Amino acid sequence: MTNDDDGGDRVSIVRGADRVLVEERGPGVPEGIFGVDCMTCEATSPLFDDDPLPVAVWAVQHSQDQPEHTLFLARTERHWRVVPRPEPPAEPSTPRGGGVLGPAFVGLMCLLTALSGLLPALTY
Ligand SMILES: [Zn+2]
Repeated sequence: MTNDDDGGDRVSIVRGADRVLVEERGPGVPEGIFGVDCMTCEATSPLFDDDPLPVAVWAVQHSQDQPEHTLFLARTERHWRVVPRPEPPAEPSTPRGGGVLGPAFVGLMCLLTALSGLLPALTY
């Protein structure tokens, strides 16, 4: 019979009037889809789920094949979902634990930092 819950376990990105945009998480949903494009030619790496390393390897190998191609655009794609805004806990209801979000954003930023750290090593 308490009403002190403001939905702190669900991190919303944007709140509308009755809709909330959240990151889609769950079984089978990748935390990130990684890809990289060569900025010198039209070459594009395959896409890999949850792992930036194959993309980084692709960029290094592409630069070995084409020594003048040293600048890449690294991309990380994620799924977002718009869900109905949770009802305010005015009445007692059974909590539904969805586990929508975690601190994935910080992890992705670390991965991007590590990825970009590889690229300056290729220039000279
Ligand atoms: Zn290229």
